[in-house]
Amino acid sequence: MTVREIINETTNAFEAAGIPSARLDAEVLLAFALGRDKLEFFKNPEMIINEEQLSSFGKLVIRRMQGEPVAYITGFKNFWTFTLEVNKDVLIPRPDTEIIVEEAIDVAKKYTSNQIKILDIGTGSGAIAIALADELPKTNITATDISEAALKLAQRNAENLGFKERIAFRQGDLFEPVNDTFDIIVCNPPYISTGDYETLSSGVKNYEPAIALLAGKDGTEFYERLIYQAKNYLEKNGWLLMEIGAKQEQGIYKIIGQSGFYESVETRKDYAGWPRVVKARRK
Ligand code: SAM
Ligand code: GLN
Repeated sequence: MTVREIINETTNAFEAAGIPSARLDAEVLLAFALGRDKLEFFKNPEMIINEEQLSSFGKLVIRRMQGEPVAYITGFKNFWTFTLEVNKDVLIPRPDTEIIVEEAIDVAKKYTSNQIKILDIGTGSGAIAIALADELPKTNITATDISEAALKLAQRNAENLGFKERIAFRQGDLFEPVNDTFDIIVCNPPYISTGDYETLSSGVKNYEPAIALLAGKDGTEFYERLIYQAKNYLEKNGWLLMEIGAKQEQGIYKIIGQSGFYESVETRKDYAGWPRVVKARRK
């Protein structure tokens, strides 16, 4: 069979199974099975695939049809300007999360000194911390996670991308493993409510770590602890930046207001127009 035929057939099968981005998934998986770049398929759609290659591709297709996300099958995900290794111990970094990276860079660039201290809480694959290490070369970055397995992968990603010396990794619940103060704290916390969790796609629910997603009855449990505790780990006038769920802005403003610890609270929308990042400055 040719590449064109295989991609068309697989796309049809994925579409029939209700998989979004069916063609892209087919292309990425075929490229992975063949150890090639998918751009080669556009240049040479008549390339012939042999039996052996077809059979190893077929196994990947079955996994995808069963709901496994492409990134867990291939073991990598592009984020920001680089490629991260991912596995079932970490959330697959979302394009939306690039917004908090952009905001953190903007905030950092307003400081007159570039030797500021940044903390990434719940680093997962290391996505945010590594992007900031890359973009803000003089900053001092600490990244934490409650999951030891996630931290291990984050460390490997930092090392593979050349940022091992730039990021200090610490394991523990929220601020438990840090005893410093920071100019910027960034966090993409778990923010899915128990009710909403049930409505997530099987790819998310059955494969991604629940500890990365679930945050109590309203999905705001983590924010409450974060907003109240961050005060003790922020420099005066330091910034707390949080990724939020599309419908959580009001609830989070309320918690921030009740805490009384912050001013200059602002929201940044994502490219789909949903509130995505809330930032607040410690009084
Ligand atoms: N920062 C990564 C990203 O944006 O792709 C991962 C974000 S994921 C939504 C949330 C992360 O927080 C997970 O890696 C999870 O293990 C971690 N986490 C959950 N509860 C935590 C806690 N109590 N303290 C620290 N980290 C926690
Ligand atoms: N945006 C993720 C999702 O829709 C949730 C990430 C999170 O809880 N921080 O699955």
